[in-house]
Amino acid sequence: MPETEKNQIPEQPEFLTYSSFPSGKHEGKTHFIIVGAGIIGVCIAFYLTRHPKFDPKKHYITIIESKRVAGGASGKAGGLLALWAFPQQIVPLSFQLHQELSDEFNGEKEWGYRRLTTISVEATKIPRSVH
Ligand SMILES: Cc1cc2nc3c(=O)[nH]c(=O)nc-3n(C[C@H](O)[C@H](O)[C@H](O)COP(=O)(O)OP(=O)(O)OC[C@H]3O[C@@H](n4cnc5c(N)ncnc54)[C@H](O)[C@@H]3O)c2cc1C
Repeated sequence: MPETEKNQIPEQPEFLTYSSFPSGKHEGKTHFIIVGAGIIGVCIAFYLTRHPKFDPKKHYITIIESKRVAGGASGKAGGLLALWAFPQQIVPLSFQLHQELSDEFNGEKEWGYRRLTTISVEATKIPRSVH
């Protein structure tokens, strides 16, 4: 990539702005403040905007982040999803939402989402004395 392109700040959509100080855009609106821009924080913000009662004229969302977006565990994760994972109460929903997000935002191309068949193998070492 040419040096000039590397230093350019990627174009941001109008609804997403980074700021080190309050913009004042929340004034007169119900202000949702989310602490932490890891996957949990950004998903809370994203799904709030999808709530049937969310109205950008009445509501405003701010995410406060002390480092950078995905600067914590979310930026280190291996990206593995599994239906056998835990806790079982939320795994099926989480798995389905990942698929839906990929379908909607072209996850295969944008972030390498793909479904694989895997196997899990467990082994137990049998002490020699048993034979
Ligand atoms: C090495 C590694 C591999 C992993 N692999 C997988 C995997 O393959 N599959 C999987 O499902 N999960 C995996 N995980 C787990 C997964 O990454 C985490 O469960 C998930 O990212 C947690 O998201 P989070 O938003 O809760 O936390 P984080 O991503 O840590 O986000 C919290 C954010 O809050 C900010 N913050 C904290 N305190 C404040 C404050 N007072 N003010 C402002 N900001 C603050 C932090 O800077 C951080 O950015 C892995 C985790 C690690 C570490």
